Amino acid sequence: MGELVGRKIPVDIRRRLRQEAFFGCAKCGSPILQYHHIVEFAEEQNHDPDHMIALCPTCHQGLGKMRRERCYSLKKNPFNRINGKIRGELGANMETSSFLVGSCTYLDTPVIFSYYDRPIIQYLIDEGQALLDIYIPKEDMWPDILVEKNDLMVNSGGKWDVDFRTNFLRVQKDYGSTYFQIDLRKEVAEIEGKFSILGEQFEFNPTSTNIGGATIKGGTIVRCGAGIAVGDGKHKLYWPNYAMAHPRAVFIRMR
Ligand SMILES: [Zn+2]
Repeated sequence: MGELVGRKIPVDIRRRLRQEAFFGCAKCGSPILQYHHIVEFAEEQNHDPDHMIALCPTCHQGLGKMRRERCYSLKKNPFNRINGKIRGELGANMETSSFLVGSCTYLDTPVIFSYYDRPIIQYLIDEGQALLDIYIPKEDMWPDILVEKNDLMVNSGGKWDVDFRTNFLRVQKDYGSTYFQIDLRKEVAEIEGKFSILGEQFEFNPTSTNIGGATIKGGTIVRCGAGIAVGDGKHKLYWPNYAMAHPRAVFIRMR
């Protein structure tokens, strides 16, 4: 009794509000979030998630005199519930061309990781700015996480948490493990991931890169056409796309 509650919102309360809102602003879906007290903090002095809502800074600010009932109805029916996708913009003004991925450093090596000649993690430098392209497929090979020139899309299905902040993204499928993470807040951009492609496991963590039983630790790859290339050198993978008569992933023999 009489315990003082600080203004800082506990991590688990923030996550619960993100999960409830399908990892986006309840009103517009934007993944950069603030946590609003529907019943003002000054009034109740607690962080009760039943009376709080996840909103982006713009909607939070524009909230003004939004009525409490409106907040509770948005809370029940957040934007991303129908949408099923989280969209955002990664690393605006990112100038780095060095990446730390699975404990290895990639300098001037635009294709960091490819699978059957298809880039999974790559970047290009355009007018001094790094633009990321990432394709982490679901089991059916449609994208689960897709980054196209820094434009981000994450499927909200099957996610335990999607924590998106300025220049930072962490996607978790389960508690305690990282499915995919991009940290662009430091001099060297850092990428971590643990995912599978067609049943093959790939892991890039802070201490090593693990691919098909092979472990690589702490290498430096400089000015290389392709960093880590998995494939047979004979086939190229094509992602499913709507231009196909029967959209599915296919391997096509290279000439
Ligand atoms: Zn919003």
